[in-house]
This record gives sequence, structure tokens and C-alpha cells, in this order.
Amino acid sequence: MAEKRVILLIEDERTISNFICRALNANDYKAIAAGTGKEGVSLFFSHQPDLVLLDLGLPDMDGLEVLEQLSGLPRETPVLIISARDRETEKVKALDMGAEDYIVKPFGVSELLARIRGTLRRADRVRLNQGSAKSRYQVKDLTVDAARHQVFVGEEEVHFTQNEFKILELLCAHSGKVLTYDFILEHVWGPYGGSSNQILRVNMANIRRKLKENPSEPRYILTELGIGYRMLEDS
Ligand code: CA
Repeated sequence: MAEKRVILLIEDERTISNFICRALNANDYKAIAAGTGKEGVSLFFSHQPDLVLLDLGLPDMDGLEVLEQLSGLPRETPVLIISARDRETEKVKALDMGAEDYIVKPFGVSELLARIRGTLRRADRVRLNQGSAKSRYQVKDLTVDAARHQVFVGEEEVHFTQNEFKILELLCAHSGKVLTYDFILEHVWGPYGGSSNQILRVNMANIRRKLKENPSEPRYILTELGIGYRMLEDS
């Protein structure tokens, strides 16, 4: 039998913590719970979990501070943020600081498990591909060939401007993960590009038009309101 994957939960609300731990243990994960940021950091180092579920509103320290103490380690552990609905700015900050994804309270078990599966899958994929930049991405019937600078939907080639192509390639390389506006702007236009969300939105509208995306039923790219964009994964 495969070893159970260990998930560290840092959450101070006992009802939520109990609910999550029960769900994790019932689904073949090993859950470890911490009620404070300090305890969470200490359990992180003693148990070396495969994934961390981190609530941003903790009694003793700021969730972002916890995130800072957990990052920059030799073995990168994905962190999934548990966020309250009114903490939009913190959520974006956490993602920009390297958190993998987020889930908004209140959430159900199936949504939580789906987010955990996706996050672990991406972390495994990153570990496997480490050091080898991919030159070809496949998302559903979309193929992005980075080396040849070509994009196909099915058999049909679609033409993009250089920046549109860069955005598309970036989203494909991180498919399944939400990418913040700042992350995309910095990767496409550079840290001193001085570009705005508006420019990104215009480019994204062009990409979607060329991919013949139906905004109400996107096949490839989801909008995460106030946060950024997410390329859908085959699941
Ligand atoms: Ca809390």
C-alpha cells in the first residue's frame, strides 16, 4: 500500500478544523492540525507534510507571516490558502508570495478534496519536470508549441501576437493553477514593464476571441475575479 500523504492544517476555528481533519482522514490522507501559526510552523518542520492548508486569519500571527516562514525551503511544499470572502487583497498577496492555490470559506468536502488533488498533482508534475523546460503543452484540444511558436486548436493553426503567445504559454505551463495579474504582467512585460491590468485584459480578450472561447462556458481559460486567470486542466 502506498504511504499516506501528510497534510498539515493550520486553522484556529475548531469546528472548521475538525470538519477538515475528518474529511482528510476519511479520504486516505493523514491530517495534522495546528490551532496557531507558531504551532503550525513547528509542526511543519517536525512532520514535513506533503501539503499545507493555511488559514490567513490566525490569532497569534499573520497568515502571510506563516507563509513567509514556510517558504524558501529546500523542499518546496505546496500551500493551499483557506480564505474568508472579505480578504481579497491578502489572498492575492499570498498567491504572489508563492501559495499554490486558495479555497474560500465556506466550502464543501468535494471542493476541498478537488483542490488538494489538483495541488498535489501539480507539485508532483513540477518535481518530475524539474530542470527540463517543456517545449510543447497540451491542454484539451489546444496545443502550444513553444519551440516553434505555433498554436493549434485541433488541427487548425491559430496566430497570436508575441505577447498573446507569451501569456498563453505561461498559462499552459501552470495549467490548473491560478496566476495573479501581477505574476502574468511581470512574466510577460518584465518587472519594469509598467503594464497595467487593462493591457492584460485586452490581450486576454484577443486570446479568447482567437480561441473561440465562449465566456460563459470557457473550455480553456477561467477568469478569477479580482485575482487573475486559470487555465483549465484535463481531469
Ligand atoms: Ca481563522
